Amino acid sequence: MTKIKTKKKFGQHFLINEELASDITKKLIYKDNVIEIGPGKGVLTKNLFPKKVTNLVVSEIDRDLVAYLSLKFPSLKIISGDILTLDFNIIYKKKFSIIGNLPYNISSQILFKILDNRDKIVEFVIMLQKEVAERICSTYNKKSYGILSVLTQTYYDLTLSEPILPYNFDPPPRVDSCVIHAVRNNNIDIGINYYKFKNIVKNCFQNRRKTLRNSLKNLNLPKEFTSSDIFSSRAEQLKLNDFIWLSKEINKINNEVRTNK
Ligand code: SAM
Repeated sequence: MTKIKTKKKFGQHFLINEELASDITKKLIYKDNVIEIGPGKGVLTKNLFPKKVTNLVVSEIDRDLVAYLSLKFPSLKIISGDILTLDFNIIYKKKFSIIGNLPYNISSQILFKILDNRDKIVEFVIMLQKEVAERICSTYNKKSYGILSVLTQTYYDLTLSEPILPYNFDPPPRVDSCVIHAVRNNNIDIGINYYKFKNIVKNCFQNRRKTLRNSLKNLNLPKEFTSSDIFSSRAEQLKLNDFIWLSKEINKINNEVRTNK
């Protein structure tokens, strides 16, 4: 097969440790409809296709790799293009899972896309930069706790792997990596629209050092509400349920203001 030129702009670091590749794919539980993001040269793909999963679709942006993969796996369904602009609804009408060693430069954007589609994505197994993975899995009262931790953990139960060192890749990245295994939890309806919830969480973390009373000033909340104790805390001190409660209360107030207008 022809030699593929590595393209930095696509965050290409190919996993060369076959044992690790097999271990990562073994984490996947939901095997009926699966999307693999950035299959590269197929190190994970070959552990999934054709036998281990049914209905695998892979999404790869690099046309040289798409050509390479179509030769290597002639009957594999390959979508050539950018995962960020791909409409998942066109691929699967029903539930599906996601697997991939992500391009690290767009891993947060991919995670936000997964969260947008949380009611169809029952599980995901993704490798990403260790620091980002740790932030996603971080808990309250830690510096690394932030928007991605709150949103992801609200909807998914997470397990973080041990660090994977750069020599397992070609070319080796400058950072360590980790795998997150996420399984959709029972939070189907938290009582507030997801985008409103996301927006309030974002507002809370806008300036981490400020108390919520200060960071949420722009929402013009009534004084009797913002005088409660929770507003003297900083965002990183709030547990997941505190965020859900706070967002629902703010939403209630906003709805009342709207109906009284
Ligand atoms: N899965 C392979 C492996 O483990 O060796 C490759 C992993 S490499 C870190 C990331 C892969 O994602 C590359 O194949 C790259 O071309 C692809 N990629 C980068 N940006 C992408 C995008 N926006 N949409 C789809 N694939 C993308």
